[in-house]
Amino acid sequence: MASIPILEERQAQIHQKGSQPFEMDCGKHSLAGSVSQRACVFCGSRVVLYPIADALHLIHGPIGCAAYTWDIRGALSSGPELHRMSFSTDLRERDVIFGGEKKLAAALDELIDQYKPKAAFVYSTCIVGIIGDDVAAVCRQVEKAKGIPVLPVHSEGFKGTKKDGYKAACDAMAKLVGTGATDKIAPVSINILGEFNIGGEAWLIKKYYEEMGVEVVSIMTGDGRVDEIRRSHGAALNVVQCSGALTFLAEMMEETYGIPYIRASYFGIEDMATALYDVAAHFNDHAEVMARTRAIVRREVGAIMPELERIRKDLDGKRAAVYVGGAFKAFSLIKALRHLGMRVVLVGSQTGNASDYATLQDMCEDGTVILDDANPLELSKYIIEKRADLFIGGVKERPIAFKMGIGFCDHNHERKMPLAGFAGMLQFAREVHTSVTSPVWQFVPARAAAMAAGEETP
Ligand code: SF4
Repeated sequence: MASIPILEERQAQIHQKGSQPFEMDCGKHSLAGSVSQRACVFCGSRVVLYPIADALHLIHGPIGCAAYTWDIRGALSSGPELHRMSFSTDLRERDVIFGGEKKLAAALDELIDQYKPKAAFVYSTCIVGIIGDDVAAVCRQVEKAKGIPVLPVHSEGFKGTKKDGYKAACDAMAKLVGTGATDKIAPVSINILGEFNIGGEAWLIKKYYEEMGVEVVSIMTGDGRVDEIRRSHGAALNVVQCSGALTFLAEMMEETYGIPYIRASYFGIEDMATALYDVAAHFNDHAEVMARTRAIVRREVGAIMPELERIRKDLDGKRAAVYVGGAFKAFSLIKALRHLGMRVVLVGSQTGNASDYATLQDMCEDGTVILDDANPLELSKYIIEKRADLFIGGVKERPIAFKMGIGFCDHNHERKMPLAGFAGMLQFAREVHTSVTSPVWQFVPARAAAMAAGEETP
């Protein structure tokens, strides 16, 4: 197969460990025409806010922006499911010419009366930024009339990267925090930030913390509730998952309410255990919390190790490519794949910063390709060159894997099973094993040729 060329302007965002000085040119706008895998600002804010299940989510823009529906972003709720509805003001040519404010006010009026939400989030999209609708003014007016928080999310798609969408979402949520009563909150208490309850993961993690004797005041935003967010400033500690999504809010809560925060990842055995031990260590004047934590980790690891060992025998030496939103998840995946005996030959993220990429470089072996803000052609090129057996990504990476004829594991929002927590690590191992060892790959012409030439084992 002919080698796939890389755009010259993209060269500084692609590195092969060990082959040149490592300095990732990251954190900038995607190159026009490169067909980036990265999502827009609006998508970033929607990812963060949409799991708040008793809020109304109204997308002010053309209907196409509303394509990020619950079906591909399946956060679960234990109660109300208003977040599953995808509302849009469906702006058309006429609205672009004459403005969409009246349409927005009418939509909010009708939806709030019909669905009685606890709050409403109104997302600005590209066209709204271009025509200049005063979304904040409409929200203020409706909030006054309806008596619930109506929060503008300034997430015009073109104005930055997905990370700017996280910031817009945090700015909107910050207006809710601090507006509820904090009585009856225990001194040993936390908020879980940046956990979106895909496949029920927030429930698993909350259960571990509660078993440790730690009260979970609010999960932001998985299985989220407006009233819980309003009282979240009463917690003693914020535990922030992922590199960036909710860090802005954690920083604001530290500054305004003096609540410290720590970072955590719930993927893989090591990081899951660390997430529990770090919280226990924070409450070190409660010795019983640490004792319970040790018992939980011992029990959970003991329960999954025998099957992990069996799976490892089949996966030993197989090669994985990883492309995810936040780099923090990539760190956990590299460790989890090592537990399964697999080598990571390609790793990248949509939103990593310089320090994230320095960490990735330290973690990876020589020859690993490390990319920032990649596109399908680049990913395909290195999957072929590095002869990956598995691709871990999200909804936009799935077709790349299948076109390349290799296994795929969805580690993003489309999946329906939990991959976090100790039980999630076992699910992850089973998923990877099933996909990588599927007999179907021997029928992909390129792989069949490689197997015939003895370059690959079936
Ligand atoms: S906000 Fe802009 S970039 Fe995002 S989906 Fe809508 S049109 Fe596309």
